[in-house]
Amino acid sequence: MKSKYYYGPIRSRRLGRSLGVDVIPFKTCSLDCIYCECGPTNCSTLERKEYFPTAEIIRSLDSCLKSKPALDFITFAGSGEPTLHSGLGKIISFLKESYPQYQVAVITNATLLQDDQVIRDLQKADLIIPSLDAVSREAFEKINRPMTGLSPETIISGIQNLKENFSGDIWLEIFLVPGINDTQEELALFKEVLEKLGIRKVQLNTLDRPGVVDWIQPISKEEMERIASSLGNVEIVRKL
Ligand code: SF4
Repeated sequence: MKSKYYYGPIRSRRLGRSLGVDVIPFKTCSLDCIYCECGPTNCSTLERKEYFPTAEIIRSLDSCLKSKPALDFITFAGSGEPTLHSGLGKIISFLKESYPQYQVAVITNATLLQDDQVIRDLQKADLIIPSLDAVSREAFEKINRPMTGLSPETIISGIQNLKENFSGDIWLEIFLVPGINDTQEELALFKEVLEKLGIRKVQLNTLDRPGVVDWIQPISKEEMERIASSLGNVEIVRKL
């Protein structure tokens, strides 16, 4: 199944049979991550707006879901940062009210989670997967190449805001880039922040498709395991 606003279902290692929902024009984001599978960001923004008409997205999803496809999750992800769409709350509410049999997940770069309206919009989702790839500013700049004004603190306090005000599940994702965020110093910073945030489920991820830069390499399985155990008392779900 495919339309302008959805794709799949795809077989996701984390989410099972997942229908992807894409509510943002290609490629609109507040970050320009070196590992992004979509390619370089050509529209850098933190502006929330109705990038595509909310009613049109809802109509399209309704016509897809009427046939009651077998799905484990409906997952907001795709061509950019989904929380940039100002109609996200309405779309999630529609899904949960009209199709309560499906779980809804949102994969986010966490740059807008300090905004209480974004947290309200996410409220009816079952699962939020925010990313935190760096705690030091240096690693953040190298991996996530953010818009001016964004910092690791923006992301950490946004995730804290989510933790305090969202009652569904939260799985935190860390994308590991060898030589940048896998050093002893970075891992010590991660450990400190993870303990403060108190999120029990942390997923380590690494490159499995070409990124934006050609020098980025995946991290080995052994190294991933070493990092998982060094991060301490958190549940680690490896994507490898
Ligand atoms: S936050 Fe996501 S969509 Fe944006 S550049 Fe990074 S990986 Fe790509």
